[in-house]
Amino acid sequence: MITIDGSQGEGGGQIVRSSLALSLVTGQPVTIENVRAKRSRPGLMRQHLTAFQAAAEIGKAVVEGDAIGSSKVMFHPHELSAGEYNFNIGTAGSTMLVLQTVLPALMVADGPSQVILEGGTHNPFAPPFDFLQKAYAPLVARLSPKIEMTLERPGFYPAGGGRAIVSIEPAGQLKTISLLDRGSLSRRSVRALVSNLPAHIGERECRRVINKCNWGQESGTVEEVTNARGPGNALIVEIESQHVTEVFTSFGEKGRPAEAVAEKCVKQVRRYLKGDVPVGEYLADQLILPLAIGAGQGTGGGRFRTLSLSPHSTTHLDVVQRFLDIQVEVEEKDRDETIVSIQPATTK
Ligand code: AMP
Repeated sequence: MITIDGSQGEGGGQIVRSSLALSLVTGQPVTIENVRAKRSRPGLMRQHLTAFQAAAEIGKAVVEGDAIGSSKVMFHPHELSAGEYNFNIGTAGSTMLVLQTVLPALMVADGPSQVILEGGTHNPFAPPFDFLQKAYAPLVARLSPKIEMTLERPGFYPAGGGRAIVSIEPAGQLKTISLLDRGSLSRRSVRALVSNLPAHIGERECRRVINKCNWGQESGTVEEVTNARGPGNALIVEIESQHVTEVFTSFGEKGRPAEAVAEKCVKQVRRYLKGDVPVGEYLADQLILPLAIGAGQGTGGGRFRTLSLSPHSTTHLDVVQRFLDIQVEVEEKDRDETIVSIQPATTK
């Protein structure tokens, strides 16, 4: 039994989700103590509980502590099963974080799966649907597994009610990836999703990004969402380069001017473009898991160049090494430039 201290490093939900994913992949039971201890409302929240139950379902796991507010959980998987699953959070909690809990295991399962997720699809502090579809899934495909994602209906906080369908097709052992340069820039766009709110919010957001970044008017689109349950607004910037696509998002909220939402995106985009790295801050912490699992299989792993590592990334690197016999190296090249290498234990 591996014991993970959920208060270590960043001390949030990712430690829980990744520990469950790694337990499923390796078959090693895990106890997580001090769950989300560094969050203002510690313990399992609705979305983490759904992730826990989802992991238990695909791994036929014996569990303890599966309740809202729980600060200690035990998870003992018995048999990983590919198949058809439906996970409904019941609130606007992030479906994408539930997906990231089960995805690594379904990527290496012995058959294809289809997962239907219901809840939030565009949540602050979580990867939005578009990030997983455009930035994350194509990189996973380079490791072998094919992931297809369809957004039937977006779900925004607080109404939720979004619905996404994800098909996962494993393809044997994971391969390596080397992402040291992004190559030439091929496309950039900014898209404002506006649901049950005036379209001018999206127009102002796009205009601000376009003006600040000196892009052409044609780079902006306002998408008026007609099928979502409640109001919502997400501003999504895609930067497509030769070797990677990055996605940056910021979210509208009551009392926050459209221009301020846009500025938040501009800041992320500028840092990424200035850094001249292929992998941005969020993608970095999320790439660690599939690379580590591949390295643990002895066939995958790899290297990527990113900005300075976030606490999410450094904590994640510690967690994966508790489950897997792998070799991790972090090389700080400059103030905002880092190379992360995750290799099988025997590779020199
Ligand atoms: P935690 O705070 O531990 O629940 O983890 C949050 C996760 O959401 C991390 O993996 C972050 O990289 C990811 N995340 C948060 N905001 C974004 C965003 N705007 N785009 C992509 N991923 C995000």
